[in-house]
Amino acid sequence: MTSSPALNSEPPRLEIRNIRRFFDGRAVVDDVSLQIRAGQVTCLLGPSGCGKSTTLRMIAGVEMQDEGEIYVDGKLICDTVYRVPPERREIGLMFQDFALFPHLSVADNVAFGLKGPREEKRARVEELLRKVSLDRYIDEYPHQLSGGEQQRVALARALAPRPRIMLMDEPFSGLDNRLRDGIRDETLSLLKEEDTAVLLVTHEPEEAMRMADEVALMRGGKIVQQGAPYNVYTRPVDKAAVAFFSDVN
Ligand code: ADP
Ligand code: MG
Repeated sequence: MTSSPALNSEPPRLEIRNIRRFFDGRAVVDDVSLQIRAGQVTCLLGPSGCGKSTTLRMIAGVEMQDEGEIYVDGKLICDTVYRVPPERREIGLMFQDFALFPHLSVADNVAFGLKGPREEKRARVEELLRKVSLDRYIDEYPHQLSGGEQQRVALARALAPRPRIMLMDEPFSGLDNRLRDGIRDETLSLLKEEDTAVLLVTHEPEEAMRMADEVALMRGGKIVQQGAPYNVYTRPVDKAAVAFFSDVN
């Protein structure tokens, strides 16, 4: 990252403040605050059921928080009364079930969220497919690609409109073990080339250690520890964190 004071004084790309979400009277996301910077991968790490996906859905705008505010580039996009709709949040999404459109070619899948002149869209599609090393498949259809290749097309599609923020919910968990490390590394290098801020959700400590610049450890709806991956891993905040890290997930 740059050390320019002007850039460092920029507001965080994404900030969530004191977010709460209740289901059946229970806070499944309980007073979560987090800041995410451009050029960084922030990992929301925690066991299944701790509230990671619910947090992501509120940021994406497909679910509304009961308390708290969300800011992008320092501007309020959502509190309990005001709400920018999901399609105007400039947020890219990637989930385990990355569902390409089966009836569209690879090129049309990647171009799906793009606006503007045809030549510009085509240039962006070609650029991204080159970056994920799939340019030779530009006119193929999803079913002609392997799972790992489809995953890379989904990544290209999510990045195509140059989102301010990328939200990734366990995007690698459907992949074969042998493929996973390679795809994680490739994804990381592509994300670093794009001007986006990444919030990656995972229940696997190993994935957080491999990919994150910053880790937020979540449990029971709360962030219980936050910091550089190495520090969080080597100095767990309590016994439950030790147990979580030593568990073979
Ligand atoms: P994670 O992604 O960390 O596995 P989730 O955010 O999916 O966790 O879920 C957190 C908790 O909220 C879980 O106990 C889950 O059962 C509950 N939950 C999530 N969505 C709903 C819903 N729509 N209605 C009721 N409970 C929900
Ligand atoms: Mg989840």
